[in-house]
Amino acid sequence: MGTVWRVKLAEVDQQRATELRQLIQQQLNDDDLELSTWKTDSVLSRFNQYQGNQPQKISANMADIITLALRIGRKTDGAMDITVGPLVNLWGFGPGKSPVSPPNQAQIDRARAQTGLQHLQVIETVAGQYLQKDVPTLSVDLSTMGEGFATDHLARLMESEGINNYLVSVGGAVLTRGHNVGGAAWRVAIQKPTDRENAVQAVVDLQGHGISTSGSYRNYYEQNGQRVSHVIDPNSGRPVQHKLVSATVIATTALEADGWDTGLMVMGPDKAKALALKEKLAVYLIVKQEDGFSSWMSPQFNAFIRR
Ligand code: FAD
Repeated sequence: MGTVWRVKLAEVDQQRATELRQLIQQQLNDDDLELSTWKTDSVLSRFNQYQGNQPQKISANMADIITLALRIGRKTDGAMDITVGPLVNLWGFGPGKSPVSPPNQAQIDRARAQTGLQHLQVIETVAGQYLQKDVPTLSVDLSTMGEGFATDHLARLMESEGINNYLVSVGGAVLTRGHNVGGAAWRVAIQKPTDRENAVQAVVDLQGHGISTSGSYRNYYEQNGQRVSHVIDPNSGRPVQHKLVSATVIATTALEADGWDTGLMVMGPDKAKALALKEKLAVYLIVKQEDGFSSWMSPQFNAFIRR
C-alpha cells in the first residue's frame, strides 16, 4: 500500500510470530489487490476502468467501506469525497505522473466534472453487493480509508487467532486492544507537525478504539515557493490552503477515524471544530499560527488523553 504495517503483541514466541507474520502479509496483500488504485489489476481499478452504468459486483468489505465513505461524505458536505481521484492525479499525488507546473483552471474543471459522490451508489441485494456509477469515467479512490480498513482487518485477524493484547497499524491508522508486554495500557503518540519524525504532541490511551491522522505537513511538494498538499478540496478542485495542519480522530474503528480525519482536514479549523462538536466526535486539531502551532481538542478526545 505504499506504506508500512506494524503489529505489536504482548506475548508470542518466535515460531508463532513467524506464522503470524505470514498471515498478516498475506491478508495485507489481499486487501491491496482489492482496494488499490495503484495496481491496475485490483478489483477497484477494474471498476474504475469500466466505463458503463451497470451495477458491478463488489465484496462485502468494499461495500462497507464505500457505504461509510458516502455517509461521511454527506456529513462533511462533500469535503471527504472518494471520487476525487482525477483531481488527486492532476495535482501529482496519485499513481499518475507529477505535474511540472500547476494545472490550469480548464484542467481542474475537466477533472472536477468526473467527480461527485452523487454519481455513486452501493446497492445491497440478497445476492450480494453492487456498485454503480452514472458518470462512465467516475473512479473511486480509497487511498484515504484503505489504511483504516486494513488496520481493522488486522485487528480482526488477531481476534480470530485468539490474541487479545495487540497494537496494529497500517500507515497512519492504529488500533489497540488490551495491554502491552509490560502489562500496561498501550499508549499512542500524536506527532508534532514537523518534517522531523518522533516529536510528540500528545499521548492517548485508545481503550480498544482506532485512531487516524490526516495532515498536510508530510505529504506535500513545493511549487513556486508554495506548499502543495495532497489533501484536495473537492469544491475548489485545489489542494487545501488553510491553517489546519493536522486532524486526528479516535473512533470505534480505525476505518471510521480514517474517513473523518480527511473530511475535517479539508474543511479547515473552524468548520472542523463545529462539525466535531455537532457529531460528538473525538477530534484533535493542530493549527499553524504566526509563531508556531496551537491545538484544540473536543471533549470526547480529552477523555483519551494521558498526561
Ligand atoms: P489521508 O489524509 O488519510 O488521505 C489523503 C489521501 O486521500 C490523498 O493522498 C489522496 O489520495 C486522497 N484524497 C485527497 N483529498 C481527498 C478528499 N477530499 N477526499 C477523499 N480522499 C482524498 N501509495 C503509493 O505510493 N504506492 C502504492 O502502491 C500505494 N498503494 C496503495 C494501496 C492501497 C489499497 C491504499 C489504501 C493506498 C495506497 N497508497 C499507495 C497510498 C498511500 O499508502 C496513502 O494511503 C496515501 O498516501 C494517503 O494516506 P494518508 O493516510 O497519508 O492520508
